Amino acid sequence: MNLRQIGEFGLIRRIQKQFHPPLFSVPLGIGDDAAAILPTPGKYLLLTTDSLLEQVHFDLSFTDFSELGRKALAVNLSDIAAMGGRPRFFLVSLGVSDRQTVQEIDRLYRGMRKASREAGTELIGGNTTYTRGPLFISITLLGEVSKKEMTTRAGAKRGDHLYVTGTLGDAAAGLALLKKGGETGRFAGLVRRYHLPEARWREGALLAENAIPSAMIDLSDGLSSDLRHLSEQSRVGAELDLGSIPISPPLKRYARRTGADPLEYALNGGEDYELLFAVPDKKVKRLEALIGRGAIAARRIGKIVEAAKGLTARGLDGRLRPIEPKGYDHFRA
Ligand code: ADP
Ligand code: MG
Repeated sequence: MNLRQIGEFGLIRRIQKQFHPPLFSVPLGIGDDAAAILPTPGKYLLLTTDSLLEQVHFDLSFTDFSELGRKALAVNLSDIAAMGGRPRFFLVSLGVSDRQTVQEIDRLYRGMRKASREAGTELIGGNTTYTRGPLFISITLLGEVSKKEMTTRAGAKRGDHLYVTGTLGDAAAGLALLKKGGETGRFAGLVRRYHLPEARWREGALLAENAIPSAMIDLSDGLSSDLRHLSEQSRVGAELDLGSIPISPPLKRYARRTGADPLEYALNGGEDYELLFAVPDKKVKRLEALIGRGAIAARRIGKIVEAAKGLTARGLDGRLRPIEPKGYDHFRA
């Protein structure tokens, strides 16, 4: 079905019907000039926005609309996770052309609905515009965090341990595979991590509730770049231990097959959406207990050092080398 047949307001009504009727916390959802929400008293409201633009962030020749919808919400969930908060409400701004069918937009929202249900968030509004150019999806997500649990990029201190959730580099290898074209076959798991990043909102909130991180950031551009953001805002240096960087078995196999260095993907590849956080010495036991009972998958990858030492990585040969920020930068890519 063509978007012309249902028009802008037909599309909005269609979207509205696919989501819950407003709940107690949303006295006014989709359908008026603005939404109204009931924030939790005493909590900070966290606000973040992230856009996905065709040909910059995704390629429709190898992207499914439902996966795109999930990813558009996931990249925002990841930012709220990195603050130690809980995601609550979101707005979606769409720029669509008549290349897209109604079914494709339905699939886009189906993907968002899935991610939204898992994370316990509510769609409260958005905007729809026609574009002659590329498709764009912009999401604004509101989250909440108690004042003492909010975790910023600043706050890491010399002597803190650096931890990361999950494994790194899979998404970048997945994208490299997609760009090459052809069968992804036994490396479908890497491609899946590119298309469907799993924002660590459970982990972010768990860490904050347990008062574990002194600073936290999500890895969207790549470890080498995002570590720099954390260390600059905390005014510290950092030393990574390359032998401890968590690399998934599929990435190891893929690197062996292609002769690539898996650490290159792990350090400089973007879109992992894992959490990087600093942990004071006296909190390590509590964290290791959570890891031990499977409440969170995280691994120590280095330590915070004084600012003058800058950012370095200890290689497998035991030598320290400086880390260059080679992660994704829109104006340098
Ligand atoms: P206005 O012209 O007053 O800004 P709109 O007609 O654009 O209102 O939107 C009507 C309602 O539909 C609003 O509640 C708005 O938030 C919601 N809305 C519009 N586009 C979308 C969209 N793509 N996804 C979700 N909600 C939307
Ligand atoms: Mg209006």
